Amino acid sequence: MKKEKKARRTKIVATLGPATDDPNVLKRLFEAGVDVVRLNFSHGEAQDHIARAQAVRSLSKKTGRHVGILADLQGPKIRIARFSAGHIMLAKGDHFRIDINLDESIGDQLQVGCSYADLAVDLSVGDQLMLDDGRIVLEAKKIADGKIDCTVVVGGKLSDNKGINVQGGGLSASALTDKDKLGIITAANIEADFVAVSFPRGADDMNLARKLVIDAGSKALLVAKIERAEVIDQLEQIIDASDIVMVARGDLGVEIGDANLPAAQKRIIRVARSRNTAVITATQMMESMIENSIPTRAEVFDVANAVSDGTDAVMLSAETSVGKYPVETVKAMGRICSETERQPSNQLSDHQVGGQFETIDEAIALSAMYVANHTDVRAIAAFTDSGSTPLRMSRVSSGVPIFAILNDAAICRRVTIFRGVTPVLIALQQRGSPDVFKDAIDEFKRLKIVDVHDLVIFTAGELTGIHGGTNSMKIIQVE
Ligand code: PGA
Ligand code: MN
Repeated sequence: MKKEKKARRTKIVATLGPATDDPNVLKRLFEAGVDVVRLNFSHGEAQDHIARAQAVRSLSKKTGRHVGILADLQGPKIRIARFSAGHIMLAKGDHFRIDINLDESIGDQLQVGCSYADLAVDLSVGDQLMLDDGRIVLEAKKIADGKIDCTVVVGGKLSDNKGINVQGGGLSASALTDKDKLGIITAANIEADFVAVSFPRGADDMNLARKLVIDAGSKALLVAKIERAEVIDQLEQIIDASDIVMVARGDLGVEIGDANLPAAQKRIIRVARSRNTAVITATQMMESMIENSIPTRAEVFDVANAVSDGTDAVMLSAETSVGKYPVETVKAMGRICSETERQPSNQLSDHQVGGQFETIDEAIALSAMYVANHTDVRAIAAFTDSGSTPLRMSRVSSGVPIFAILNDAAICRRVTIFRGVTPVLIALQQRGSPDVFKDAIDEFKRLKIVDVHDLVIFTAGELTGIHGGTNSMKIIQVE
């Protein structure tokens, strides 16, 4: 085994926001190693997202770094309306009413409005309502005429527009709101590489989202945010209807209870990987770095554990969008991932051991990984048109870097999320030349990816650009 320090495999998704709008900060985020940026459609106007997307694209062009853009739709997050005083204080035992017919700005100590018309229909007496990510807990005592009369179980400060979840799940709001349908158009216009659907109830919501995304002219990969309790019971179906899943620990934790999150995260990652789907682990990974320049030890372990669980990417939310130390946070996350990946146990894999390979390209992809993990090779290089061969390869844990050789910058940006995969753009005309392998090795030498005498595993199709056509593997020693 080579002793040199290898590039990080686990990818970093960073949410953009006011704290990253300074061009200098964005540039430093790129240098710190951001792989994908998230535009959070729950905040700001379309114009803000368009401006941020343009800044990212032009910096990509300038630096030659492929950075993906993830458009995260708001979804049907159910929120209380507003208080005339901006907030109230609730104490345990207080009576408090949520009334869907109350004017949206006149909430007071006794009641508040809510714009979700079916709230009273979806709820049952005895349900625990978790407000503001579970900081406030109400128990429904009486439901009539759109009014939910509750007793305060856990009190505290409650301010305008806080979210409502129900413990155990069960709110039936459709995942794609009218605002989300406009969001999909915006995502298509900015050529987002990934579109995330918030609060999908199952595969049907993802299928509808896919239709809307395609109709809008977008080729984005679809991300299902796993954040409703009921989805946990139909994980396989929603994973199969999506390209990527997100362990959306914020809302999911409120619905299933925080103590159930670690097991849920491990299961979601395991099932996603086994079904050739990529997975992002999200929310509060480096939360204290919103205010502090170093992470807590618990956060270091959280990131490391997600890496050991096999996540493709780890995500930052407020840490980068509104935090005081966005660049330091990405750097800290990066070093934790890199060191964790170096542990030998994180480079071993039993993916598909004992299973059947389904297709020729899967057989080649997994053979290449088997060789890589049992031979002293420097790199794997996959000629690919769709990115599907490197995706299949990256389901296998390994210490050997996987380079996706592509001739389309848009596909380069899509593979940015796959663990261990680095896109290399090689122009189309070169790919038709008699010795594409030599062209690739020359480019790898130029990029200092390989040295003389190194072994490189190549996979390729007939090199005619046929999608899904990978059917051969070749090991070449660099001269
Ligand atoms: P959000 O999703 O940040 O859009 O709420 C992630 C989560 O719920 O964890
Ligand atoms: Mn969420």
